Amino acid sequence: MTSMKKVPFVTKAQVEEIAKTYPTPFYIYDEKGIRETARKINQAFSWNKGYKEYFAVKATPNPYILKILQEEGCGTDCSSYTELLMSKVCGFSGRDIMFSSNDTPDQDYRLAAELGAIINLDDFTMIDTVERLVGIPETICCRYNPGGTFALGNDIMDNPGDSKYGMTKAQLMEAFKILKKKGAKEFGIHAFLASNTVTNEYYPELARQLFELAVEVKHETGIAVSFINLSGGVGIPYRPDQTPNDILAIGEGVHRVYDEVFGPEGMTDVRLMTEMGRFVTGPYGALIARAIHFKHIYKEYVGLDACAANLIRPAMYGAYHHITVLGKENAPCDHKYDVTGGLCENNDKFAVDRMLPEIEEGDYLFLHDAGAHCYAMGYNYNGKLWCAELLLQEDGTVKMIRRAQTPKDYFATLDFTGLFDGVE
Ligand SMILES: *Cc1c(COP(=O)(O)O)cnc(C)c1O
Repeated sequence: MTSMKKVPFVTKAQVEEIAKTYPTPFYIYDEKGIRETARKINQAFSWNKGYKEYFAVKATPNPYILKILQEEGCGTDCSSYTELLMSKVCGFSGRDIMFSSNDTPDQDYRLAAELGAIINLDDFTMIDTVERLVGIPETICCRYNPGGTFALGNDIMDNPGDSKYGMTKAQLMEAFKILKKKGAKEFGIHAFLASNTVTNEYYPELARQLFELAVEVKHETGIAVSFINLSGGVGIPYRPDQTPNDILAIGEGVHRVYDEVFGPEGMTDVRLMTEMGRFVTGPYGALIARAIHFKHIYKEYVGLDACAANLIRPAMYGAYHHITVLGKENAPCDHKYDVTGGLCENNDKFAVDRMLPEIEEGDYLFLHDAGAHCYAMGYNYNGKLWCAELLLQEDGTVKMIRRAQTPKDYFATLDFTGLFDGVE
């Protein structure tokens, strides 16, 4: 078991320099870490001809990040109209795009079809919807929900039997038969059964279920499934005592199951796809905020210039984000704090009863593992504004890849012509 000490990818001196140009709070992403991870993923599945990772745009929806991943050979996995648009402007098209949505509006399907994206049907009724809107495409994917419980799950996603996604097995079989009759030629199966799994067993276990299902599909419908999409769910160790996933071992685990299930069936031309988000960018992003206020009542509080509107995961799921006080990496953690933001919500706490070094006003706090599903879940409650996103490039320079929101942006959608003129 190898647990990792969490080491920030920027130093206090670097952050002090960056903050001269870009005031806190801000997100910063580590290009090097993202590229290395994308390469490792591609290496882990290189045994499968046609394998492709479709980065889940919702994890880190920024065109600069998408371009980096495009250079590493990834496609995008989109769930909405604007994610499709972002993929389009980044130059993704056709089979570089998976469209894995649910409860899907008509205009989203229209744009997905226009881009030639691979459409992943979340529900049986969507066959009629897609046929009416854009016609049945030659290549189509169906999302499977096996129901029941799934042992490797956790709180972010309910057990399959309680989750809203996908089709039952009977629906999926029926869907394939209907789709074939209506002209579909290439079929895929997709499922997402557990989120943020920190075990090398998740993908192999999921793969076994989907590979066996593909064999059943062949026997029951005569359809040879062309691709299996293992979706996302490969997690990261938010806590320093957790053992990180080993993507090479995961790739090998899937390889073993592939040979075992598909070998005897002569199905070893099935292509694999993944839609990882968190594993690709999660550890390589941080929220940097400053300590601006101290309060002692029944507990000891340190208030930051960021709040849950910038990073909601702790408030939303009680998620743990490790915190490093920059410049105090080696100081003893002998002070107990609740680390808060300024929202009028008592769950606006980045950490509760966290042992940290003594924090002084102006200290920079590095909130780890904020590269995925963090900036993206931002919101404007209490009129708090979105912060900037920065990229630490491989050459060590910093580039702003999204500016901070201004009051003018915040008021821009209000229909009070003229009233907010002059507001910056
Ligand atoms: C959220 C999501 C992903 C990415 O999940 P991660 O946990 O970030 O890997 C992939 N596919 C679909 C359909 C999703 O909803």
